[in-house]
Amino acid sequence: MRQLDFTGTQVNYYFVCKRKLWLFSNDIRFENENEYVQLGRLVDETTYKRHKKQIEIGRIKIDFVDNQGVIHEVKKSNKVENAHIWQLKFYIHRLKTMGLENVRGELDYPKLKKRKTVSLDPGDDERFETLFKEIREILDQLKPPQPVRIPVCGKCAYYEFCYA
Ligand code: SF4
Repeated sequence: MRQLDFTGTQVNYYFVCKRKLWLFSNDIRFENENEYVQLGRLVDETTYKRHKKQIEIGRIKIDFVDNQGVIHEVKKSNKVENAHIWQLKFYIHRLKTMGLENVRGELDYPKLKKRKTVSLDPGDDERFETLFKEIREILDQLKPPQPVRIPVCGKCAYYEFCYA
């Protein structure tokens, strides 16, 4: 998989849990059985309907672009906000590599009535080079990284797989 083939979900999981990144990237999925994942999907499908213009560029999917050209990512909870920020930065970075400069992003948490503006900071492009390399190294491992218990484990689709 080339770096351009990475998805926003993979970048998100890199920041949440390296084991989750590996499992997801190796097509080991339990998402349909997990109520929290279903709830997240429901939030995504039922909010901002007026604005909905999901766009797909290669393997990345941007939730919607508003009339000001700001790209939006909709989430139900801000418990892993840093992962959300980097997922959105990844989309902005990808658009920049396609020649679209100064794209702004917004994280939307409709259930929390909260928004956060996201843009690339100096050094982020270099940070992505390192990040893609590290993701590549994780995916090249023959086995998934060992589980490391973190606060979101209880709501993770892989919980039973990791700890049963
Ligand atoms: S349950 Fe925890 S350790 Fe296992 S994949 Fe999910 S977040 Fe990672």
